Amino acid sequence: MKVADYILKITPYEGGKPIEELQRELGLKDVIKLASNENPLGPSKKVIDIICKTAELVNLYPDGNMYYLSQKLANNLGIGEKNLIFGNGSDEIIELLYKAFATNENDEILYCYPTFIEYRIIGMAFNKKIIELPLKNYAYDIDNLISHINNNTRIIFINTPNNPTGTLTTYDDILRIINKATKDTLIVIDEAYYEYAKSSSDYKELLDLYKNENVIILRTFSKVYALAGLRVGYGIASEFIVQTLNRVRPPFNVDIIAQAAAIAALDDKEHLKKTIQTNEEGKKYLYEQFNKLGLFYVSTYANFILFSTPKDAQTIYENLLKEGVIVRSMKPYGYNNFLRVTIGTQKENEIFIEKLKKVL
Ligand code: PMP
Repeated sequence: MKVADYILKITPYEGGKPIEELQRELGLKDVIKLASNENPLGPSKKVIDIICKTAELVNLYPDGNMYYLSQKLANNLGIGEKNLIFGNGSDEIIELLYKAFATNENDEILYCYPTFIEYRIIGMAFNKKIIELPLKNYAYDIDNLISHINNNTRIIFINTPNNPTGTLTTYDDILRIINKATKDTLIVIDEAYYEYAKSSSDYKELLDLYKNENVIILRTFSKVYALAGLRVGYGIASEFIVQTLNRVRPPFNVDIIAQAAAIAALDDKEHLKKTIQTNEEGKKYLYEQFNKLGLFYVSTYANFILFSTPKDAQTIYENLLKEGVIVRSMKPYGYNNFLRVTIGTQKENEIFIEKLKKVL
């Protein structure tokens, strides 16, 4: 069977190794995973109860319009339900954006790199021309990005805080990009780590300013809300964008348990607070330890830290695996001297540092 050349060029997504895989491969019992920026506290008890209750309903299709979830989230955000689109993770919304808006042969996709690798993988699957510009001081280089905007620029991805560096793009810089782009360019502000960042975009102002236009803000229930395994992401955008995306969205893309769990997670403000506090404490602890070890790290606005290693980072990554600690290799990103660690519970952070000292 024939496969297009552009498909064959794709390197499949390589995420953090699952805990069970490492246990199986190395016969290890105690494994911690600090590789995928998951919530180390797990879901709250309230969310687990709702998940168990909703299990009785899985013979039914989910509500394809996500009525209750839309209502709850719109209420929380102070926006209209018609300004929300949901996906099977924000991953799926990224794919829908390509599907709906990057349909011309000459379309260009623009962003700085290293950033979330799915922009590249999905862009390659749609055979798009992808313009990747280098980060500057580990952050989006806005001047350079703006200088590359042209009439063919169809989607610009701004990831803030940026995965894997944890750096922020300021709201002023976001506005500069929006003002430079034509109305035929979609500006995607990917805020998967929004809740951890102290400042970020003003989504209400963006919605207001660009009512019928070309801005979408992506967020997710996978991080702070601890539902990565259930796959729920959402976009905040103009009604025009939401309606367009709904035309290409699979009808039941967010399952019945995921919808119920996301509603319960939104209600559990205590858990959210505890998650952010745990992250702040863990960040402080890891900074102190990196300083003591003389390791360079990039200050983060998210729940992960990019740090550099004196020896080949890939070897350190592999030796950490043997010690039962899974962090993220930066080799696929071309950041060969770096590793990315998710901020865990205090206990996990301590184990990570103890094992890191052993393999440095
Ligand atoms: N955007 C960024 C920047 C991410 O880091 C991630 C997850 N790692 C996603 C989007 C996708 O998140 P999800 O599909 O779990 O909502």
